Amino acid sequence: MKELSQRLQTLPASMTLAVNDKAKAMQAAGADVIALAGGDPDFDTPEHIVAAAVAALAAGHTHYPAPMIGILPALEAVAAKMERENDIPVPDPRRQIILTPGGKWGLYLALSAVLNPGDEVLILEPHWVSYPSMVTLAGGIPVAVSLPAEDNFQVTAERLQARVTPRTKAIMVNNPCNPTGRVLTSEEVEAIAAVALAADLYVIADEIYEKLVFDGRRHLSIAALPHMAERTLTVMGLTKSYAMTGWRLGWLVAAPDIIRLATRMNSQTVSCAATFTMHACVAALNGPQENIATMRDAYQRRRDFMVQALNDIKGIKCRSIEGAFYLFPRFTHSQRNSLELADALLDKARIAAVPGIAFGRSGEGHVRFAISTAQHDLERAVARLAKVAHEL
Ligand code: PMP
Ligand code: GLU
Repeated sequence: MKELSQRLQTLPASMTLAVNDKAKAMQAAGADVIALAGGDPDFDTPEHIVAAAVAALAAGHTHYPAPMIGILPALEAVAAKMERENDIPVPDPRRQIILTPGGKWGLYLALSAVLNPGDEVLILEPHWVSYPSMVTLAGGIPVAVSLPAEDNFQVTAERLQARVTPRTKAIMVNNPCNPTGRVLTSEEVEAIAAVALAADLYVIADEIYEKLVFDGRRHLSIAALPHMAERTLTVMGLTKSYAMTGWRLGWLVAAPDIIRLATRMNSQTVSCAATFTMHACVAALNGPQENIATMRDAYQRRRDFMVQALNDIKGIKCRSIEGAFYLFPRFTHSQRNSLELADALLDKARIAAVPGIAFGRSGEGHVRFAISTAQHDLERAVARLAKVAHEL
């Protein structure tokens, strides 16, 4: 048989999903594993959203959507939401939005629409697991901009500027950030915009965690800054905010020329997102929003509990987070690298966590714990950690 794809053979599998699968398989086999690996809310999708999807299916909305980029009520709901909550003008929803099967596909469409072979993409590190692979698959070259933990992973124009070359095409920004839990300040957002404008770069703004910001902070969308809407490709979705990871619905908002290319790519690959999820999207965005605040407040309480409890354990240092639902502690006395640490956690404490190296070289020394997990399991995890921390 002839050789299989070299491109895919050298592509690493997503470590978050791999650890998640492993933890679930161990649980299914009867092991008492506490899964702090994949970021999947333990909450159920709000009932009125489920009801809207069920009603759509019962009403026969089981065919391709029209138009394929998304049913008009959903495009309009997204446009209204972007203007209302994010200060991003979307004057022409039919030409500026595409609904996608999950935020992840929105990111890949965004990269595919802007990159030519050899184009460089700046990625703030620690970065979400899939960024470098997505850039590579889309024909680009990922360039890490390492943000030091000692400086609370602060983004500055100088740090970005230092990695800009004539081949730089785009900056990928995840705000709020998985895995660091940072929420960008207005100074940081402005610094990114200034570098993008000065060097004529696109910004791929992954704002999937926009609703999960704590302590009364406000999420700032990069596309809302002056002159940024035309060069920013904003990706959001229902996944995290509405506890809808399994539904696979996100969206990409960008200038019409970009959406035209994304639509072309969709037409030759996935075609569209699932029609009934588009009906659920209308219900989610136009319906009551109290559930979001309830879930966010629960994550914030879990954060408060976990950060304190982890810092009380000798050998663990954990900074507090401003948003998203991941903690990124360091094991200060351990001689193990993060892969070995994650293995040891599974082995000795039956805790599934993602090794920091999955998020780039500057993630080494850390592991990631998802606090989208029930409080009861977080308490059990801390109790186990306290017992085994000295052996890690
Ligand atoms: N961006 C980040 C930073 C994420 O953590 C995730 C994982 N859910 C996604 C995008 C994609 O989310 P989904 O495809 O599940 O909507
Ligand atoms: N985004 C989640 C995480 O980082 C889910 C896994 C994934 O999509 O990679 O854990």
